[in-house]
Amino acid sequence: MSKIDPNENVTITPKRDVYSELYNIIVGSGKDGISQKQVLGVSNLTVAQISKLAIKLEKNQFISREKSLENGRWTYILKALNVLNLGPYEFNPCMRCPHEIKCISNGVVTPEECALEAYDQGLSNWVLSEYKAQVSVSTK
Ligand code: SF4
Repeated sequence: MSKIDPNENVTITPKRDVYSELYNIIVGSGKDGISQKQVLGVSNLTVAQISKLAIKLEKNQFISREKSLENGRWTYILKALNVLNLGPYEFNPCMRCPHEIKCISNGVVTPEECALEAYDQGLSNWVLSEYKAQVSVSTK
C-alpha cells in the first residue's frame, strides 16, 4: 500500500482543453474560416490533433469543414457555425453586476445560476435579446 506524505508539495496541472482551443481559433477567424494548415501556425496543436478535433467539432455541428486546394495541396477550411455575436461588451450584465467580483463557477454566486436572472436582467436575457436581434436582422 502506498503512503501519501501530507507534507509533500503536489502540483496539479489542469488538463489542456484542446477542443475549446481549436474551436476558439476557428470562431476568431471570422466568417471566412481558417485552413487546417493555418491553424498549425497559430497554435501548438499537432496536425493529427487538428484533424481529429476538427472532425469531432464537425460531427457536433459546431463547424463546417470544406475541402480546399492550398498551394497545390489539399486541406480543409474550418468555419464556425451558428456563432452568436454578443455585441458590445459593455452591454454584458456582468459589467454592472454587484456580484461580479465573487461570481465564479463552483462559487457562492455562479454564472450558471446568474443572480440577476431573478430580475430578468441576467445573462440569459442578454443572450436571448442579442439572439433575437440577430435573427430578426438576418431574416429581413
Ligand atoms: S453571471 Fe450573473 S451574477 Fe454573475 S456576474 Fe454576471 S450578471 Fe452577475
